[in-house]
Amino acid sequence: MTGFDYQNLLVDIATEVERLYGQGKVAAYIPELENIDPKQFAMTLTFLDQDKYSTGVSQQRFSIQSISKVFTLMLAVSEIGEKVYQRVGVEPSGDPFNSLVQLEHEKGLPRNPFINAGAIVVSDVLLSIYDDPLKQLLNFVHDISGSDQVYFDKAVAKSEQLTGHRNYALANFLKSFDRIENPIEDVLDVYFHQCALAMTCEELSAAFLLLANHGKSVFSSNAYLTPSQAKRINSIMQTCGFYDQAGEFTFRVGLPGKSGVGGGIAAIKPGEFSIAVWSPELNQYGNSVLGMKALELFTTATGKSIF
Ligand code: GLU
Repeated sequence: MTGFDYQNLLVDIATEVERLYGQGKVAAYIPELENIDPKQFAMTLTFLDQDKYSTGVSQQRFSIQSISKVFTLMLAVSEIGEKVYQRVGVEPSGDPFNSLVQLEHEKGLPRNPFINAGAIVVSDVLLSIYDDPLKQLLNFVHDISGSDQVYFDKAVAKSEQLTGHRNYALANFLKSFDRIENPIEDVLDVYFHQCALAMTCEELSAAFLLLANHGKSVFSSNAYLTPSQAKRINSIMQTCGFYDQAGEFTFRVGLPGKSGVGGGIAAIKPGEFSIAVWSPELNQYGNSVLGMKALELFTTATGKSIF
């Protein structure tokens, strides 16, 4: 990309946000995530022509957690199209990601695919389609990221399986409303593993290029999504991608994206680029403190938000 020194900008942003260390807390409710060094930062910006800029520990793997909900949604939509949206809604929830409250009022229909209840239903969709949904998911992520190094961190998946009482509660609740077709243990096994995908910022940024590129992989000839399907997923990221801080993220950053409690955030500008950040300390909503600030600085300096 000509005309702008992106490399220097990313380095300057890193220097600026590193002052914020200590303002957030690493996620501790999944014990395995607590063992991480909190003072780490990485950022990768990749344009559609694969021109790439990175700063910090951009090749360090981390647990992508809820960012995986975008991958499973993409895969489900690529298989059964708009029928996915008969199983999950597309409205922001305004409640914490693991809340049970709305489900009771709304008869077990999850508000959107990015709260836990919605993502568990999408895992169920994949389980009904594939004999081995985890293998299909991994192949898909390898294909769209251009990296076959991405893997499921078994220790993280196990740690969540042992402590994921709330997700078990959600899955049981969904099942009581007949919203889940497969056995709960099997559905949660898919869900816990997808959340335990270990990726680098470089791989994550590369994988999200699919959504910046209107549904077409830039690494293979596969067109997984139609432009309309990609547009819809991007709009759900815009309205529901940041727990109950989606409004604040739109206000500060102005890009569709998705965060995870591992401290990662991936965001895109349609037709232009994908950007991934990682820093493990989270704010009270579960979003990376340094990650959000870094993206705010980026769109402010470049003017590259969608607004
Ligand atoms: N595996 C996490 C959970 O279900 C994902 C949470 C997140 O990243 O939002 O609690």
